[in-house]
Amino acid sequence: MKLELDIQPIQSWAPHKDRPLIISGPCSAESEEQLISTGKQLKDIGIDVLRAGIWKPRTRPNSFEGFGEKALPWLQAAKKELGLPVTIEVAKPQHIELALKHDVDILWIGARTTVNPFNVQELADALKGVDIPVMIKNPVNPDLNLWIGAIERIYNAGIRKMAVIHRGFSAFQKTKFRNEPTWQIPIELKTILPNMPIIGDPSHIAGRRDLIQEVSQKSLDLNYDGLMIESHRDPDNAMSDAKQQVTPSTLKNILGGLQTRISRGEANDVVFINQLEELRKQIDNIDRELIENLKTRMNLVEQACEYKLQNNVTIFQVERWNDIFRSRSEWAKKMNLKEDFVSEIYKLIHVESIRSQTEVMVKRETVTK
Ligand code: PEP
Ligand code: MN
Repeated sequence: MKLELDIQPIQSWAPHKDRPLIISGPCSAESEEQLISTGKQLKDIGIDVLRAGIWKPRTRPNSFEGFGEKALPWLQAAKKELGLPVTIEVAKPQHIELALKHDVDILWIGARTTVNPFNVQELADALKGVDIPVMIKNPVNPDLNLWIGAIERIYNAGIRKMAVIHRGFSAFQKTKFRNEPTWQIPIELKTILPNMPIIGDPSHIAGRRDLIQEVSQKSLDLNYDGLMIESHRDPDNAMSDAKQQVTPSTLKNILGGLQTRISRGEANDVVFINQLEELRKQIDNIDRELIENLKTRMNLVEQACEYKLQNNVTIFQVERWNDIFRSRSEWAKKMNLKEDFVSEIYKLIHVESIRSQTEVMVKRETVTK
């Protein structure tokens, strides 16, 4: 499936140099002074757009929910003082109305809003006849159609200056990321909507400072058009998302350490990356199966050992191992795999089999004593 949407290039509404667009700023606007001082440092390191949260969607009530309407003049002041375009999250039609009144340049729809078609439609209705760029974060759950549905609703309202933001997905199984990147989903989105600008949000994917560089690099490797990275002058004391925010000077180092595909002289080819991703995913699956099979093999060896013990048969039988080495090398040869390679692997398996069978014997002796 391919969708032909008439999207305007990102350079036309968020001008930036000959490198990915950089959006940065605090998770939340905490005061006019905080916003301007952080913004100044960010401007000095060359960011293109200043972000700040005004209304914060929080998981539990009674946590800091942003300063709301009161913070909009702070943003206006920062925009005037720094000369940078500003962007905020909107979740209700009333937010859009207030943002427009306060000269906000770019809006974004948060992950917790994209999940709900009723909410997205309300925002779309409020955007009818308005010419403002809108960035749409992926929904919290890994559902590509929900993401595309939100894009279509906003597009049908007449918005043509659009981008998507990849901020990762909630996952049942916890990994090192706060939100699983599940790269396959934005890659698929890009194949369906080839001209949709895509911005990576390493802060919300990583959830911790030390992973931001790695996730940013991966986003650029996939040819993303920009990055949105949260930055705070004093991250440890931030009122929201303290663990993932970085100081502007750390951001400078992160950005300085990134390699763009252009600087590496690589082909500008998303399909190449896409196929590479797919192959790597298959390799990961095969490796998992290899390890699962090794585990099953060890279980069988231990069962055989028990059986031998019960029947008073010697545990280590040289002929059996000679037989294994010979047959496995022959199988390898037939499959055009190097015999040496496979026999090296079996040497390791042999050592581990002996170790585990010895363990079974020792356990049994301690039980019988
Ligand atoms: C944010 O950008 O601060 C935010 C709340 O993001 P998300 O919607 O991705 O959780
Ligand atoms: Mn945040």
